[in-house]
Amino acid sequence: MNSSPDFSKGLLPAVIQDASTLQVLMLGYMNEEAYFKTQAENIVTFYSRSKERLWTKGETSGNFFHVKNILLDCDQDTLLIQVDPVGPACHTGADTCFNTSNQDNAAWLDYLKHIIRSRKGASADTSYTASLFQKGTNKVAQKVGEEAVELVIEAMSNNDELFKGEAADLVFHLLVLLEDRGIGLEEIVKLLQQRHAK
Ligand code: AMP
Ligand code: ZN
Ligand code: ZN
Ligand code: ZN
Repeated sequence: MNSSPDFSKGLLPAVIQDASTLQVLMLGYMNEEAYFKTQAENIVTFYSRSKERLWTKGETSGNFFHVKNILLDCDQDTLLIQVDPVGPACHTGADTCFNTSNQDNAAWLDYLKHIIRSRKGASADTSYTASLFQKGTNKVAQKVGEEAVELVIEAMSNNDELFKGEAADLVFHLLVLLEDRGIGLEEIVKLLQQRHAK
């Protein structure tokens, strides 16, 4: 950074951005002390207006922001901090404090993942998902293959409703297969993010 931030008018807003996905994660405020601490430790510390003290993000949750890059705006009164987040940025458990509808969709898939997980030990008489788990990995994987083929067939038709239905079937059975193999959806998302970053 060429110049230094101008704290003469008080607290400066600090926009926190994920260094690899470029998602805006949250906004906090910094005084000079918070800024120096952030630079010294390479971990983001804000000045919390509600706590009225320095606040190292992650101090209780462990979800620290590791600093990758600090940028200043044109007149040195706003910070853009690119970070590598340890975990979810928001105290609600969401990846970012700014939920777009996109992320709502992702959050709902995550919710479905938890429902599927809860069916693992459930009775196969009342739950289709439980019956899938009981049949074992081979059967679940086979179902994914069948749904994929059905999707391919519908892709060649002009019926959007049937195509969407098969896409939903495939996503659902893929979630079941991941759960059966003990792999979390978030691990797949992370892999996609890593690939995207390259
Ligand atoms: P943490 O700094 O992540 O250990 O969280 C400590 C406390 O700070 C939480 O209990 C929340 O009250 C607050 N907090 C954490 N993350 C956020 C956030 N992204 N936005 C606003 N408040 C937060
Ligand atoms: Zn400015
Ligand atoms: Zn939040
Ligand atoms: Zn189907």
